[in-house]
Amino acid sequence: MIQDTRKHKILGLRELGEGAFVVRIERRNMEFAPGQYIHVGPIPGIDRREYSVYSSSDDDFLEILVKEVDQGSVSPKLRQLKVGDEVDVEGPFGFFRIEEGDFGAPMLFIATGTGISPFHCLIKSYPDLDYRLIHGVRHKTELYDHDAYEPDRVVSCLSRDDGGDFSGRVTSWLKGNPAPEGCLAYLCGNCDMIYEAYDILGSQGVGADRIHAEVYF
Ligand SMILES: Cc1cc2nc3c(=O)[nH]c(=O)nc-3n(C[C@H](O)[C@H](O)[C@H](O)COP(=O)(O)OP(=O)(O)OC[C@H]3O[C@@H](n4cnc5c(N)ncnc54)[C@H](O)[C@@H]3O)c2cc1C
Repeated sequence: MIQDTRKHKILGLRELGEGAFVVRIERRNMEFAPGQYIHVGPIPGIDRREYSVYSSSDDDFLEILVKEVDQGSVSPKLRQLKVGDEVDVEGPFGFFRIEEGDFGAPMLFIATGTGISPFHCLIKSYPDLDYRLIHGVRHKTELYDHDAYEPDRVVSCLSRDDGGDFSGRVTSWLKGNPAPEGCLAYLCGNCDMIYEAYDILGSQGVGADRIHAEVYF
C-alpha cells in the first residue's frame, strides 16, 4: 500500500463523553487494511500522532476515536478542530490486521480504552467475523459505541463502576474464561494490559504466533 501525506479536511466531530471523541476526516481515496493506523497532525507540518482507523474500509470517509490526554500536545488540539479545518494525514501503517488465511478462526479481541478502535474498524469492515470482543474501561461512560456490536459477542469489563458484564479488568476476565481452542488473539491498548494478557494467553496454550498486539502507550 502506498503511504502518502496529504491535507485532509475535517468533516465532523462527535463527542462520546469522558474526553473521548470521534473525528471524521476526508478520505481522499486513501487505501488501508482494517486494523491499520494513520498519522494525524492538527498543526500542518508539526506534531503528528498515530491513530487507528475507526471507520470501516467501505466508508467514504476516515474516522479516528481519540481520548484527550491531559497536557498532551496533539489530542487536545484535535478536539478543537472545526468542520473545514485541515489536518495532515499520512499512512496507512502497521501490521495489526487479519491475514488472508486467518478469516475462519475464532477471534478474541481484547481492548482497553480507545484500544477498541481497530476492532470497531475490523468488525464493521468484515461483518462475518467469528469474534468475541472484551473491552476494559474504568467507567460505563467509556464504553464507546457499544451498540455497534452484537450484544452476545461483546463483554464490558468495568474496573471502577457497576453495571458492566464483568467487574474488574480484562485480564481478570481472561483468567476466568480460557481462550477458545484454535483462536487468534488480538490485543490493543496500554502496555501493562498487553504484557499481562500475553502471559495469561500463553498459560492457556495460545502460542505467541497466534497473538497480535498493538501498543498505544
Ligand atoms: C499504533 C498506535 C495507534 C494509536 N491509536 C490511538 C487511537 O486510536 N486513539 C487514541 O486516543 N490514541 C491512540 N494512540 C495514542 C496516540 O498516538 C497519542 O499518543 C495520544 O493521543 C496522546 O498524544 P498527545 O500528543 O495528546 O500526548 P503526548 O504529549 O504525546 O503524551 C502525553 C502522555 O500521555 C500518554 N498517553 C498516550 N495515550 C494515552 C491514553 N489514551 N491515556 C492515557 N495516557 C496516554 C503518553 O504515554 C505520554 O506519557 C495510538 C498510539 C499508537 C502507537
